[in-house]
Amino acid sequence: MRYAIISDIHGNLAALEQVLKQIDETGVDQLVCLGDVVGYGPYPNECCEIIQDKADICLLGNHDSAAIGLTDAAYFNRYARSAIGWTARVLNEKNAAFLRQLPMTAVHQGLMFVHSSPLQPEEWNYVFTIDEAFDQFQSFEQQICFIGHSHIPIVWNLQESGFPKSSVALKVKIVKGCRYIINVGSVGQPRDDNPDACYGIFDDAQKIFSLHRIRYNVAQTQQAMRDLDLPVFLIDRLQFGK
Ligand code: ZN
Repeated sequence: MRYAIISDIHGNLAALEQVLKQIDETGVDQLVCLGDVVGYGPYPNECCEIIQDKADICLLGNHDSAAIGLTDAAYFNRYARSAIGWTARVLNEKNAAFLRQLPMTAVHQGLMFVHSSPLQPEEWNYVFTIDEAFDQFQSFEQQICFIGHSHIPIVWNLQESGFPKSSVALKVKIVKGCRYIINVGSVGQPRDDNPDACYGIFDDAQKIFSLHRIRYNVAQTQQAMRDLDLPVFLIDRLQFGK
């Protein structure tokens, strides 16, 4: 089975459309969205509708949760908070109801999926360091857990020695005896110094994970954000992938 795994769309319709077009051309069996469909970007309703229609699995992200009042946005930085306030105001009832019923985690055919991290996903913790990764490996039993949330693609590989190693390879062969936490990066707001939309493909038969980047019309999203008076910081960062 081939999975396309996308995350952190953040209302960036141009990025989402570009990614889905490429996924359609590639051909996959399952489309998995790891959450944060909304927040930051100018098209929360449109992105919700597309994901409702196309994703086989969709999980709840912290921005989705804040937009429907389930997570307190007080801990967000002021730009994120301002954008989530706007998102909550414009989100229609149908899309709010869609976000409200999203699960925090999913397991499909022996693969684990979560937005933030498998240990206490509702705490929205990040996996940045080797010890954070080590703790996370103790909290799920599958060989692979796919995550998003940090907007930075990375593969954590727990080897038989018991210590996780990180890599940013574009292609990873899944090896028996090793376990993996794979961050698929962000469709709508990459933060790894590369502004191109990011997502992953996992081929279960070949045991290969690959990371994909695709250019989209950043200027179009930025203009829509300007028209809506969304924070300049959020508009500018898109073109740098920061
Ligand atoms: Zn996010």
